[in-house]
Amino acid sequence: MTRRAQPVPDPSNPGGFLPNGAAAKSGLNRAILSKGWYRFEQALTSVSRYTGTTVVKVPAAFTSQRCSACGHVDPKSRESQAVFRCTHCAHSGHADVNAAKNILAAGLAVTACRESAAPAGAAVTSTQEPAGNREELMLQPT
Ligand SMILES: [Zn+2]
Repeated sequence: MTRRAQPVPDPSNPGGFLPNGAAAKSGLNRAILSKGWYRFEQALTSVSRYTGTTVVKVPAAFTSQRCSACGHVDPKSRESQAVFRCTHCAHSGHADVNAAKNILAAGLAVTACRESAAPAGAAVTSTQEPAGNREELMLQPT
């Protein structure tokens, strides 16, 4: 996501390079990396305990190049930023929707592995009872 822009050689000027948007990409990289992703993950995990949901970390590699219908991975399937057309099975759709389906499938696979790894009858839950309102706790007699 934060890979630097590739240099574009100038065919009419050997040894020279064409503009490749490196300054814009550099600014985007700086903005992405300055967001504090670890704290975001901590906040998401904290909220998930109260709501009984599960946070699953999925490696993002190749999720935008993998076909959600047949599983074939090919960078050429990504016709543009928005269009995905599989080179193997001709499945087509919006590239972001295709990637989201791949990420969902990977997350469900991780969750299924966790559930099958637990012994029978041992319900593993990450749900925590809400602590309640801070004022409510302080008003209780001791
Ligand atoms: Zn396909």
